[in-house]
Amino acid sequence: MPELPEVETVCRGLRMAMEGRVLTQVTARRPGLRFPLPADFAARLRGRRIERIERRAKYIVVHLDDGQVLIMHLGMSGRMNLWAPQVDTQGAGDPPPLATHDHVIFEVGNGSRVVFHDPRRFGFMALSREDELDSHPYFAHLGPEPLGDAFTPDYLSQALEGKRTPIKAALLDQRVVAGLGNIYVCEALHMSGISPRRLAHSVSGQRAERLVPAIRDVLERAIQAGGSSLRDYAQVDGELGYFQHSWRAYGREGEACGQPGCKGTIERIVQSGRSTFFCPRHQR
Ligand SMILES: [Zn+2]
Repeated sequence: MPELPEVETVCRGLRMAMEGRVLTQVTARRPGLRFPLPADFAARLRGRRIERIERRAKYIVVHLDDGQVLIMHLGMSGRMNLWAPQVDTQGAGDPPPLATHDHVIFEVGNGSRVVFHDPRRFGFMALSREDELDSHPYFAHLGPEPLGDAFTPDYLSQALEGKRTPIKAALLDQRVVAGLGNIYVCEALHMSGISPRRLAHSVSGQRAERLVPAIRDVLERAIQAGGSSLRDYAQVDGELGYFQHSWRAYGREGEACGQPGCKGTIERIVQSGRSTFFCPRHQR
């Protein structure tokens, strides 16, 4: 499932391919994905210039020149496949034939093509207006971006005040911080030495001072890994935003803890139906 760093990498790839360009053709090959596509979806996008592409939580937000905003979510298995004409080889070449599960095709002015591919169809697309974005049902409840300036130790302490849920669950609550998934919460708690079972309200002061930079760090390292995979896509075509990670705790049940100086062993527990990997030795 695409997590925040993958979505960020997809956004960066889409920016390179689409920003500042006109959508010359939009084709929806089925009436809906997880939800029905908006009425006249393709017609409302065709001919519009893409002003800017940004990420909010795990949403891709495409701002168009007429004040419309295209909101896209990759769901469980959604991918963006990019094809660009290779002008430095003989001729421009032809894009590869469309495949099963290629649901929405965006063509832009320079001949590039972006295909939304989603076998399980949990992804979705919606249209909104720029001036209604903050109050849109997808965004109205979201807490600050974990990589944004508003996400500070002070903010986090306040957001967790009085919360008697485990810190693991609190960090997955999108109202506390937007877009954090299970893997990154496990990794950030491991890095900051905080037990996933600790009650959220007790994560304040020094613990919040450790946790906020740890969250930023695990996300930024993953985005960097994605960025290096993206450099390849600037040269050749392909699928945006999927890359190999190595985790320090996640998926490492029974292995020695990777924290420097710690002799602990990673354990797995289940919290709110999700696996938590942690080191009971240094995570308190
Ligand atoms: Zn440890």
